[in-house]
Amino acid sequence: MSGVVAMCGACLTWIEPRGDRCHHCGELFSLYSDDPLDRDVAERLGEPLVDLGPVVLNRPRLPVAGRLYGTTTGWVFRPVFTLDESGALSQFPIPRRDRSWLWRFVPSSATSGKARADLAECIGQKAVDSAEQPFAELYLAAPGGLFVPIAWIQKIRRQRSVLRVWYHQVQRVEFELLASEKVVDDALNKLDEHDAWRAILS
Ligand SMILES: [Zn+2]
Repeated sequence: MSGVVAMCGACLTWIEPRGDRCHHCGELFSLYSDDPLDRDVAERLGEPLVDLGPVVLNRPRLPVAGRLYGTTTGWVFRPVFTLDESGALSQFPIPRRDRSWLWRFVPSSATSGKARADLAECIGQKAVDSAEQPFAELYLAAPGGLFVPIAWIQKIRRQRSVLRVWYHQVQRVEFELLASEKVVDDALNKLDEHDAWRAILS
């Protein structure tokens, strides 16, 4: 990570503050605002319904490797970090070569398939949830998380291993899904059983 990142209290997404508005939700943002209460965060992030597994998020600078959850209230991306020698969090290393490859969407050759599998396994190993730790606490402990409430979402499209989510009319996030097709299919089918998700998934 470079520069300052802070969580927007209005939308719970971590941003690089630029100007006086959050680029994710458009609300006024100040580094000096009080943090939202843990209880409030837990309520807004909802309870996880499905775990879509390891993903890579297409965005500059902020952490890109993590795990994606569909909750009772929206999509939650939780970044995965490694600890460096001093005990500080560092961003999960994704070689630039792999990253540019990931976004060309060509998971066809044996080599790229192996690179995906390796990356998925590494992210997966670092993101084993502690059964006792509440979901919101895990989210707050990993700077760089992203939250897209169901109420914002206009449409969701999945094309092979890429999940695109349009929200607030013009904004879009893209997740490269590294889990197997079956894991992703099962998760999306399970989400579709929930009324709040059905309308936007179909
Ligand atoms: Zn915001």
